[in-house]
Amino acid sequence: MPELPEVETVRRGLQRTIVGRTIASFDCDTRKMLNQPLPFYRQTLPGLKVVSVDRRAKMLIIKLTGGWNILAHLKMTGQLVFCGDRCSVVGGHPIKAGYEQDPNRFTHGTFTFRDKSRLYFNDVRKFGWLRLFSDADLSKQLDHDLGPEPLDHNFTLDVFRRELGKRPNNRIKQFLMDNKNVVGIGNIYSDEICYFARVRPDRRVKNLKDGEIALLFRGIKNILTEAIKYEGTSISDYVNAAGEAGAYTKFLKVYGRYGEQCFKCKGTIKRQKIGGRTSSFCLGCQK
Ligand SMILES: [Zn+2]
Repeated sequence: MPELPEVETVRRGLQRTIVGRTIASFDCDTRKMLNQPLPFYRQTLPGLKVVSVDRRAKMLIIKLTGGWNILAHLKMTGQLVFCGDRCSVVGGHPIKAGYEQDPNRFTHGTFTFRDKSRLYFNDVRKFGWLRLFSDADLSKQLDHDLGPEPLDHNFTLDVFRRELGKRPNNRIKQFLMDNKNVVGIGNIYSDEICYFARVRPDRRVKNLKDGEIALLFRGIKNILTEAIKYEGTSISDYVNAAGEAGAYTKFLKVYGRYGEQCFKCKGTIKRQKIGGRTSSFCLGCQK
């Protein structure tokens, strides 16, 4: 499952490729990917121009003229491919070998622009979606049950403390991975943030000291910012805007390294299930 840095990388790729293009037509062969019948998309979309590409949590917001928006989620196996003069993966999971041509049997959504370029939505397992919302309906979707954006300026240490205060009995890893508390952090980055803060991921929120809370907060900002800089992590075959594996993988300190040596203290990285997810951490460095 992609986390915030991977989705942000896709957003930047889309921002570079589709802004300013006008939609000529839209097609989709999978009803469950849409929130309205296909004929409604076909009536609404032609003639609308892409204004910007934004992100909320792990959703992409393709902002169109006329007060319309496409809200897209790549889920487990979604991929976006832009074909202008040539095709290039904008982001998401690489498609199975043998299906590198676009469109292919995993192409379920197609935006054709007036200049004949196309944006394909490929998805092997079809969990992803492309939902159409007016501006008014979109804001309801975006705020529903979602916590703050961790890299937003409004997400301050005070806000983080307040969120922690709501869930005293959560284990810190569970807390970080719950979108109701803070969005976009999954298994990889929660492990890395705990390592940064020198806090064991199975500690209860109510037992954290002030200094540890401040370090966790800094960890959230630093780790996510760095991961975006390197276009994400390539675990689960995620790829960046150029169709390449994210380069952050080589900076991982604990995630997926159980049984290996800690880079700092040379102890062995341990693993433990926390809330159903395998967590990796160092007992020497994390208290
Ligand atoms: Zn260590």
